[in-house]
Amino acid sequence: MRGSFKFFLFLFLALFLFIENPFRCVNLSLAWDCETHAYIAKKAGLKNPEYACLPDIVREEFYSFFVSFHYHSLPPQEVIKSSEYIDRFKVEEKFVYMNGKKIKILVPHPSGTIYWKIVDLYERMQKLNKGSLENKVKYDYYLYSIAHFIGDLSNPLHNFPFYEKPAGDGNFYPEEGKFNKDNHERFDKAFTLYYHLNPKEIEQKIDSKIEVIKINSVEDLKREILKIANSAKEIALRCFKENRIPTQEEVLKQVSFSISLLKSLYNSTY
Ligand SMILES: [Zn+2]
Repeated sequence: MRGSFKFFLFLFLALFLFIENPFRCVNLSLAWDCETHAYIAKKAGLKNPEYACLPDIVREEFYSFFVSFHYHSLPPQEVIKSSEYIDRFKVEEKFVYMNGKKIKILVPHPSGTIYWKIVDLYERMQKLNKGSLENKVKYDYYLYSIAHFIGDLSNPLHNFPFYEKPAGDGNFYPEEGKFNKDNHERFDKAFTLYYHLNPKEIEQKIDSKIEVIKINSVEDLKREILKIANSAKEIALRCFKENRIPTQEEVLKQVSFSISLLKSLYNSTY
């Protein structure tokens, strides 16, 4: 009962927080599959790990807006060195006139806003006083959203040019973009594939890779985001050059990064 109640509140909040934006375009981008998102959340200690899949479902309600939270088109040769990079790719308020009326819309950067969105959710979690039922539900909404996006963050192709979208430097990378589009689903399912081949061995390897990270501030979080994003992009670039999907070792490294970050963040805000 409580589970379905939270589910509907989650959808409600997600829709009404962002409904005022009429920005639409057509594109397609998936994510780690639901099993991988739930695995990351479970290993991080979240109570309802499958809820980490919800942002992929909510996304379908308003695809052109919500999809920007799931990726960033990092230029292939870029290595992000400064946390200022994160602040450049965000959702901005703009005003437009429609039928003679001035209305506010929210416009996400076309290169994707995942890094900013993770910071935005963390700041909301930090500020929240969980004294009321409403705020407890809000906390869950932020928590399961951030669980999802921290999952996507480690996916190599979510940090690589996608199809015909501009990358963070404003340039287009048609070959890398096509590789991303053609291989996206195979990357998304890579962890699940390796996991089911040998669950025991994967569990042991993941457990040995999970690290304790101190997240006490936005700067701590940004530092971790950059580490995971740069590592993801390096793997994506290697896979593109060698025309392959990530190896088991590459996938486990990335998934462990997500688990370590989510676990630390959960422990520091719960
Ligand atoms: Zn996603």
